[in-house]
Amino acid sequence: MTARAPHPAHDFPALAERWRDLARRAGWHLADVARISGYPIYGLRTAASPRSWSVYASAGIHGDEPAAAWGLLAWAEAEWRRMREENWVIFPCLNPWGLVHNDRHDARGEDLNRGFQRARHPLVSRWRRFLGATRYRLTVTLHEDFDARGVYAYHLGDSSLPFVRRALARAARVIPRDPRTFIDGLAARDGFIRPSRKPRFLRGEPEARWLWRHRAEAIVNLETPSEFAFEKRVRAHRVFLASVAASLRGANDRPARAA
Ligand SMILES: [Zn+2]
Repeated sequence: MTARAPHPAHDFPALAERWRDLARRAGWHLADVARISGYPIYGLRTAASPRSWSVYASAGIHGDEPAAAWGLLAWAEAEWRRMREENWVIFPCLNPWGLVHNDRHDARGEDLNRGFQRARHPLVSRWRRFLGATRYRLTVTLHEDFDARGVYAYHLGDSSLPFVRRALARAARVIPRDPRTFIDGLAARDGFIRPSRKPRFLRGEPEARWLWRHRAEAIVNLETPSEFAFEKRVRAHRVFLASVAASLRGANDRPARAA
């Protein structure tokens, strides 16, 4: 961890320190899931309550999308007391090298988010081991897009559709929705994309898609426009997560779902 960060948003040691502080306060074990290019990949499990749903959240697989990682932290810092009763699995930053170097890729120039089919990849193998066999009610992957003109989200699975729509509406109060009707070759409406097929441009398997095929009832992938003001983007991620969490809490008493 000797590289100099170009901007506080890319200061991985500072981000990691905040997560370690938070874990200490909340009594969580921040697991050192892997070490990639000299940086720790942290993984966190908030509880193991059989009465609560399991939800997955991650950020930072693309290092040039820093607001996602800081938004995830800001949300967890605000809600850790409630999260202690719930089953969250969190990866605060999946590509620290990329974050420090403001690079989408890893140190080898690979887009990690196209390689989740590679069971022996040093990150993917340990990530999968940490996940175990847990089924998630919802997985939330946080991203940014430099082409975006507002917030937008990919979503698959019907079980969490109302939650996700509400959360996107909440984020859209911070940054308006992307008005485009086609985003990355997929039909979009009000910043909402429900991809029925794997997009043509996708060569490997992204994190969210692997989770959808193997672990999740529903997935959502939030994108904020990385040309917009940093603090607003952080806030959009934070309020999105807060809204998803509030909806899940509201549904928690209903029995018909997997823990
Ligand atoms: Zn991304």
